[in-house]
Amino acid sequence: MVEKYHKGMSMLCDVTVIGAGPSGCAVAREIARHGYTVTVLEEHGQIGKPVRCAGLVSPRAIKLAGVPQAVVLNRITGAQVFSPRGAHLQLSGPKEQAVVVDRSAFDRALAAQAEKAGAVFVYSARAARFERRGGVLVIRYARNGSEGEVKTRLLIGADGVNSAVAAWIGREPPVEQVRMFAAEAALRTAPETLGLVRVFLGQAIAPGWFGWIIPVSKDRARVGVGVARNGGLNVRAAFDRLCSAFPEHFAGLRLLQPTGGTVPLGLVRRSFADGVLLVGDAACQTKPLTGGGIYMGLLAAGIAARVAVRALKRGDLSASFLKAYQDEWHRKIADEIRFGMEQRSLYNRLDDAQIDMVLCFFNRPFWLGFALRFGDFDYHSWLGRKLWVLPAWLQQWAGHGNQDWAEN
Ligand SMILES: Cc1cc2nc3c(=O)[nH]c(=O)nc-3n(C[C@H](O)[C@H](O)[C@H](O)COP(=O)(O)OP(=O)(O)OC[C@H]3O[C@@H](n4cnc5c(N)ncnc54)[C@H](O)[C@@H]3O)c2cc1C
Repeated sequence: MVEKYHKGMSMLCDVTVIGAGPSGCAVAREIARHGYTVTVLEEHGQIGKPVRCAGLVSPRAIKLAGVPQAVVLNRITGAQVFSPRGAHLQLSGPKEQAVVVDRSAFDRALAAQAEKAGAVFVYSARAARFERRGGVLVIRYARNGSEGEVKTRLLIGADGVNSAVAAWIGREPPVEQVRMFAAEAALRTAPETLGLVRVFLGQAIAPGWFGWIIPVSKDRARVGVGVARNGGLNVRAAFDRLCSAFPEHFAGLRLLQPTGGTVPLGLVRRSFADGVLLVGDAACQTKPLTGGGIYMGLLAAGIAARVAVRALKRGDLSASFLKAYQDEWHRKIADEIRFGMEQRSLYNRLDDAQIDMVLCFFNRPFWLGFALRFGDFDYHSWLGRKLWVLPAWLQQWAGHGNQDWAEN
């Protein structure tokens, strides 16, 4: 079916989506539901493989995605945070804060819904070139050694962090990029901590970022580390350092499925052009404090679909009409992204002793209760803005390069 479609394809589609990750599948599904012809080009031979994700999302993201609960493997009610010098805090309560999903199954569920709505998926098709011809967009893609072509009225780049569509429309580079090593691993978790994510801080181990253990079951976990600065530091080596710095947490670890990837951070201002929209990682729609991109990508996919449908109905695919997409997603999440980036720059100025102090400071029933009450897995600013005095206080300390801070 796909082969036949590939061979016969030079008809004009209403919409072509590049990339069948969660953002691409969600936007394809929503537009196809309105009866428009949607083609999705995916460079891999199947959906959801390879996995480059820890699969930790909020219950809100599951609802937004509309995927079945069967993709959920574990439920998370809190976190334990460890500093390199031994400070530690635990934030946990009765409320479900996040869930661990089978990321392949998550993507496959979205793709199945998009197909059911009428979208046509072409696998192993890598979009390589784009051009404007006679008022339509022409996408050339490589597939099994031959070249195919799709003509489309609207092109949606949902092609991830190294988006070819973003490069074509001249989107600015991300403000920052975090390189990550991650893996599905055999690792035992005690039953009483199955609902807790472990986060490891330390500028030497994970410069500008953190390491993690996310329990999947009592003997399976997702582990990893990110490096946001020190461009030269190899992420695999950073992971080995993390394991040796916290041996009690990584004892008996056996990596089953190593992976990795890059997460783009920071607000971009060019997520549209004449006949083109960018969604998901292609538009850097990620949370700057955790690198999670699934929720924001899905949110933006919904907005992109609504604007696309309006544009197709009116027959106006100009940049000035499509700008409504960026206006809306900026209205919903630009402040959140800006807030996260500000907090990142503050964190990046702390050394390990200062990180230790901050953890000790927050490790009091009042602050822990406060964080549980106002914290949100997707909207970090909800808590952050309640603590508006603290950043100034921390900034003052960090800004003065306080070496004696630890003694104060
Ligand atoms: C190690 C790691 C852990 C992460 N953990 C989490 C987490 O726990 N929670 C969370 O919310 N986020 C996490 N993220 C981020 C999350 O994976 C991304 O934000 C999310 O996948 C973005 O979805 P997307 O649909 O925009 O892009 P992607 O999921 O990257 O999908 C893009 C798709 O486009 C395809 N593609 C690319 N180029 C082309 C082309 N030229 N032609 C055809 N197809 C193409 C790719 O094959 C891919 O299928 C993590 C990222 C990494 C690297």
